[in-house]
Amino acid sequence: MLASCSNNRLAYCPPQPSLKGTINQQQLLQDLKIIASDQMEGREAGSVGSAKAQKYLQMRYRAIGLKPLNRNYRLPFTYSNGKQGVNIGGFISGHQVPKDYIVVTAHYDHLGKSGGRIYNGADDNASGVAAMLTLAEYFVQNPPAHSIIFLATDAEESGLFGAKAFVENPPLPLSQVKYNINLDMVARGDNGQRLYMAGTRRNKQLRPLVEQAVYQSNVCLRTGHEGKLRRRGASLATTDWDNASDHAPFAKRRIPYLYFGVDLHRDYHKTSDIFERVDPLFYTGAVETILNIVAALDKNSSKPVSPQTN
Ligand SMILES: [Zn+2]
Repeated sequence: MLASCSNNRLAYCPPQPSLKGTINQQQLLQDLKIIASDQMEGREAGSVGSAKAQKYLQMRYRAIGLKPLNRNYRLPFTYSNGKQGVNIGGFISGHQVPKDYIVVTAHYDHLGKSGGRIYNGADDNASGVAAMLTLAEYFVQNPPAHSIIFLATDAEESGLFGAKAFVENPPLPLSQVKYNINLDMVARGDNGQRLYMAGTRRNKQLRPLVEQAVYQSNVCLRTGHEGKLRRRGASLATTDWDNASDHAPFAKRRIPYLYFGVDLHRDYHKTSDIFERVDPLFYTGAVETILNIVAALDKNSSKPVSPQTN
């Protein structure tokens, strides 16, 4: 079913969530479970738990076969008067336009712990990181036209600092970064089993590139989720989706982006955001949908397009 909500917003909902079987669901869930485990202590930037998460990501990047962007995939940066953060970055070389890059981002940091209670951040954002690893695995096996960087960002929760550090001090000329794909909270379908996508309203040229894949989504996908929107079920609270996550620093540099995420849910930024509350069927369907859209963008835009920000 395709429902037109307004000029800018489309909702595509399959009759029921389905799986296409294109990804390794077991590995996806295992990655999420490990990244959200108590052992990682909520992954606050600069913490012992964060260092454990970095080690795990380096191990997974190596196993998947990503090339390192820097020594051991580590891209350290300094923020907020001397605090240290570490982005973890690897890449695949494109076979058609290798000098043009897609940067996939997902923040691995979360809120750490407080009073002995751990903020596991299963949906926020172990889900996005595990999804990114799944994308990396797919594109190693199915080489992309563009080169693709997979960047697990640090210190997002305190101000998008990992993504800001990447665009301020990029490991390649920023003019070669054609798109940013940002994944932040993709495992919970609580609010109407919906996955949201933002980015096509501001960059209309993206629409034809991804349209067909959008219509083949196997979860309920709503596009045009951008600007300041009222939260579902909340009468006054609004969320500024343009600046809510790591796509914002890319957008500020006029790099077109697609951001995928679910709406804020009852466990958002609570100690109850745990692995057990993830919805495996929704999550797997969401990751397959994101994968199909990124693959379509890669395939249909091997000729660079100029950014447009109105
Ligand atoms: Zn987040």
